[in-house]
Amino acid sequence: MTDNTDTIVALATPNGVGAIAVIRLSGPDAINIANSVFKGKDLSKQASHTIHFGSIADGDLILDEVLVSLFVGPRSYTRENVVEISCHASGYIIESIIKLFIKKGARSAKPGEFTLRAFLNGQLDLSQAEAVADLIASNSKASQQVALQQLRGGFSTQLQALREQLVNFASLIELELDFAEEDVEFANRDQLKQLIHEITKIVGRLINSFELGNAIKNGVNTVIAGRPNAGKSTLLNALLNEERAIVSHIPGTTRDTIEEVLNIQGINFRLIDTAGIREATDAIEQIGVQRTMEKISQSALLVYVFDAAEITIEELNNDIASLQKPGVTMLVVANKADLLNKSDSQEAGMSERSFADLFANAYSFGERGLFTSPSTDFRTFGFPDIIFISAKEKHHIDELKHKIYSSAVKDQLSGDETLVTNIRHLEALQKTEEALVRVLGGIDGSITSDFLSMDIKQALHYLGEITGVVTTDDLLENIFSKFCIGK
Ligand code: GDP
Repeated sequence: MTDNTDTIVALATPNGVGAIAVIRLSGPDAINIANSVFKGKDLSKQASHTIHFGSIADGDLILDEVLVSLFVGPRSYTRENVVEISCHASGYIIESIIKLFIKKGARSAKPGEFTLRAFLNGQLDLSQAEAVADLIASNSKASQQVALQQLRGGFSTQLQALREQLVNFASLIELELDFAEEDVEFANRDQLKQLIHEITKIVGRLINSFELGNAIKNGVNTVIAGRPNAGKSTLLNALLNEERAIVSHIPGTTRDTIEEVLNIQGINFRLIDTAGIREATDAIEQIGVQRTMEKISQSALLVYVFDAAEITIEELNNDIASLQKPGVTMLVVANKADLLNKSDSQEAGMSERSFADLFANAYSFGERGLFTSPSTDFRTFGFPDIIFISAKEKHHIDELKHKIYSSAVKDQLSGDETLVTNIRHLEALQKTEEALVRVLGGIDGSITSDFLSMDIKQALHYLGEITGVVTTDDLLENIFSKFCIGK
């Protein structure tokens, strides 16, 4: 995995027909190999960062007219000699040129091998190398920004600073070990405690940032649930501003889940419309109800929609109670608010108190007051905040979008802070935190320098794993095998 004495070659652009394809060579012989088949200038005599027109020929047979970009190491992505050939993107031409390079001494690159070399040669640290993959996979403004920040080393710089401080103390404690007989303390315990406290705080903040970082990178699973006919499909359409899901009058017709992506200010919310949560009467619907409950447990956000003109207080309370799951934020949405002021729900004989009644008693439905959400008053009725909308009339959809966004982002996104997006980094940070807690406990319990030193080294080890100061072949294999060939 870590042999980088040879020259590697791969297609750097996607497979398939296009205008141009880029074939990349990296390694000590990259320029010589390209030069041996290039008809044009002598590439070995050209300066770095220059582009040359010519053709690639296998003996007398011209394969293509190309542009050759030269990057002389160490001024390149991999810090090795790198040559990029821009040729015409025919599968036949690409294959012929790569085969020719292999005949001349290059070998096919393994997945992620260019980036691996960039890491091994000190161009990028490990978290930056991972950011390359994230950047390529980014599909929203926010995910692109976070990956770019990590690629530029924001995260690495922060970790590096933490490590340096810890290394200082570790070495002082090591010194104490050397003078063990003399019972000296080079490392001031109070200072050490303060430092560990500070580091633990930063590590804790990074750990906490994962929830948002992950939301940005992978999107937020969002379930829209509610009784049949509450207006879930209509709401989904209103949110997406398109006629996607099938809207119908027959209760229970949205039997299967539909997944759509709603992008709010750069964050992808994966909306899942589900079958109604009413007690199911037939088998197919039963599956739908079950699936709703499953989807809710797999989500971060639940948008519970009810028909404000129809639902009774008891039903509403039951729904809210039964849909609440730990770790899932619930937004309660009163739909069909446009019907509230025309409500005929106070008809005689209605045995249970309806939501519309309660709402009618508590508020007047002037045009202006209709869509306000008097949250504190609702709390006095035992309800959470309720957002009033009309999915059909598209009223208050933007307000709802804002609530959806802020449920995921809260107040954390200021633009330049470091967000952890990678589960590997999260785990290493958690282990660092555990080790730091042991260090603190050790100082308080006055344990001996050698144990203290061990725990500090553990913390250093885990911090180092993130940027790759500490690596194993397995770890590298694991990370880079997930890259595509050519990266
Ligand atoms: P679902 O079963 O929860 O997906 O409900 P649908 O989206 O299929 O809507 C059921 C019915 O309610 C349809 O006839 C919709 O046109 C109607 N509806 C949905 N939202 C509103 C609304 O805000 N106001 C009114 N008046 N009708 C609505």
